[in-house]
Amino acid sequence: MSKKPSESEAARRARFAAAARERWPVAKGSLAHVARPCGRPQDCPACRSGRRHPMWIFTFRQAGRLRCRYVPEACVEGLRRALQNGRDLEARLVEEGAAFLERLRRAHAQKKG
Ligand SMILES: [Zn+2]
Repeated sequence: MSKKPSESEAARRARFAAAARERWPVAKGSLAHVARPCGRPQDCPACRSGRRHPMWIFTFRQAGRLRCRYVPEACVEGLRRALQNGRDLEARLVEEGAAFLERLRRAHAQKKG
């Protein structure tokens, strides 16, 4: 991944779009393996023994609210891949933002002479 200072905005945009296209599906949030008590912990052998019920939970923020969803075991790998793609894309956005500000500052400095 070489960054030439002379690269045009159109070329940068195309490079970013290509990187985003490769990162699909995407997700943002966290996946956790937890063990929770069920609705009837007194009648449940797993809960009475302290093992409780292991499950995967996906936690994410939507419009400022924290949300949780149960994740079936069969969906864990797919969601993991999406989360990694989301992290990669987010890191890319951060890089692009910092690089964009540098270009804006250089353009502004040149205008001032
Ligand atoms: Zn239980």
